[in-house]
Amino acid sequence: MKRPLTWVTGWPLWSTPRHVVCYVLLIDAIAVVTALLVRRPITHLELTRFAVLVVAAIAYIEFTRGVERVREVNAKAGPYMDTESVWCFAAVVILPPSLACGLVLVIFGWSWFRVWRGRRPLYRWIFSGATVIIATEIAAAVLAAGPGPHPGMPTTMVGLGVAAAAAAVRWLVNYALVIGAILMSSPNIRGAQVLANIDERVMEVGAFGLGLVAAGVLVFNPLLLLGIVAGLVAMHRSLLLNQYRKAARTDSTTDLNAVGWWRQIAEQALERATAGGGTLGILILDLDHFKQVNDTYGHVAGDQVLRCVGQALSAEIRTQDSPGRWGGEEFVVAMSGVSLTQLATIAERIRTRIHELAVPVDSTRGPSTVRGLTVSIGGASYPGVGATTLTELVLAADAALYQAKDNGRNQVCLSSIRAVHDDDPQPGQQTEPTEDRRQQAG
Ligand code: GH3
Ligand code: MG
Ligand code: MG
Repeated sequence: MKRPLTWVTGWPLWSTPRHVVCYVLLIDAIAVVTALLVRRPITHLELTRFAVLVVAAIAYIEFTRGVERVREVNAKAGPYMDTESVWCFAAVVILPPSLACGLVLVIFGWSWFRVWRGRRPLYRWIFSGATVIIATEIAAAVLAAGPGPHPGMPTTMVGLGVAAAAAAVRWLVNYALVIGAILMSSPNIRGAQVLANIDERVMEVGAFGLGLVAAGVLVFNPLLLLGIVAGLVAMHRSLLLNQYRKAARTDSTTDLNAVGWWRQIAEQALERATAGGGTLGILILDLDHFKQVNDTYGHVAGDQVLRCVGQALSAEIRTQDSPGRWGGEEFVVAMSGVSLTQLATIAERIRTRIHELAVPVDSTRGPSTVRGLTVSIGGASYPGVGATTLTELVLAADAALYQAKDNGRNQVCLSSIRAVHDDDPQPGQQTEPTEDRRQQAG
């Protein structure tokens, strides 16, 4: 009997700060107490409805099990669909709180054994289930406080409003409890980061709506619940499609646009510039002597540096600009509506920022910091260098990049214009397309 004990004592939970352990255990305890509360007897009809919801929820988990496993491989590529809330919210509306909590237990237990066992730490799963149980109890209390009968389907607009309020409260309570744990265990994480994924939030609202429909269907004709299961499974699979699409568009090392997708974005930007008399600036960046970084610190560290450079690049451009990874240690940016002067200024800013980076890396000899990176940048803009297609524009920027390399690296060079050197005081002004330089371009 020693093994189960060491399995529990080995949870990473115990090595988190004491207040986090206390918080997690307190939430678990509250959930257990609420779930065990003695309440009124349960009717046969309620038990039957509970059984139907259990079957629907289990069928759903089984049909989407494979999808969840594939999605887990690339979890950050797409929103996670909160699968339990459809069935659990239906239960909150139509069943007494004890059965609604029972359904949460069944769903969390089942998906633990069939989907997540060995993939996620059990204590986290128990904590998630506990937050849902507490949220379920509070939502049921909101419904009970409303004017309509509870449990039961709302039949008036006021009843619907109370159901919406219960859904909102359930969501808020659940979310607040989870965020509490996240903020406590990772104090450096910003609130905005936790709240950021808008797709997930939208889907959660949709799940509550479907939960209400499922409750209505259950009262009207439980067999129709099959339709909801089928629809949900199809929707869930389409999430996978979205995830694949996003993965195909994103470079996994840097999270920037992959080159094929970047080309499409840049082509469209060029079309808009051509049609509307606008401008388009292109920059190509190539890290200097990057091979040495790999040779000194290892390829894992090299990848960490590439990621950090990608972030630095994104931080120096506007959200509407499109950064991409061209390949290897080469990056590209397409920027609509910037003049040649602005292009030079931005490129210089990027160059400086990359030079100032101190990247913490896992080198072959342990943790280390990579500093003093330099980058050569080539740029070209439409109109201006005679290029009318994206390929011509990229070739012009590429030629400028080679010029920057030839001139000694760690500098910006715009197409047909002399290099902006490290020691030039005003990079923007230095790259004005003066008559002189156009002749040089000649
Ligand atoms: P320079 O551009 O200044 O001429 O020198 P460099 O050493 O950067 O040039 P080169 O293009 O010859 O070498 C690029 C190196 O980038 C080769 C390879 O070691 C490294 N590299 C390319 N892609 C990756 C990648 O995905 N991860 C890592 N870690 N390194 C990469
Ligand atoms: Mg290169
Ligand atoms: Mg290089």
